[in-house]
Amino acid sequence: MGSYSPMSTSTHFHNSKAIADILSHNGVRPTSQRETVYASLLEKRDHPTADEVFARVREKSPSISLATVYNCLDVFVQQKLVKAVNFERAPTQYCANLAQHAHFHDETGRTLDIDMPPQLINELRNLLPSDFDVKHIEVNFHGNAPKS
Ligand SMILES: [Zn+2]
Repeated sequence: MGSYSPMSTSTHFHNSKAIADILSHNGVRPTSQRETVYASLLEKRDHPTADEVFARVREKSPSISLATVYNCLDVFVQQKLVKAVNFERAPTQYCANLAQHAHFHDETGRTLDIDMPPQLINELRNLLPSDFDVKHIEVNFHGNAPKS
């Protein structure tokens, strides 16, 4: 299972077949609930919490439960289709952007994606002695971002 990335930058997928394919490619058996939850993460990339995802998907699938939403999110995180973003004591937020990127946490509680060019990642790796094995690099900014 490779990490097949569905998104370049801001492509929106509303096509259920495309969504189902992305789930399958990432080892997630597509169900209509999983498709709905994943589609909502792709549609609005603002790092929603599980409660926020629940509120969004309930508009389309009124019968879905919060437990089901949590369950879908857990599966996506396990299969590395979605990243769980934990920041201080805030509830976990979910990020569907699989490209390497940094997060900017602003003081109003927003979390924004900041692109990290590959050469910058290499420079960060080069800070370490060569016998260090890096599995994961996480860069977080904190401050004020302009209102969008
Ligand atoms: Zn992100």
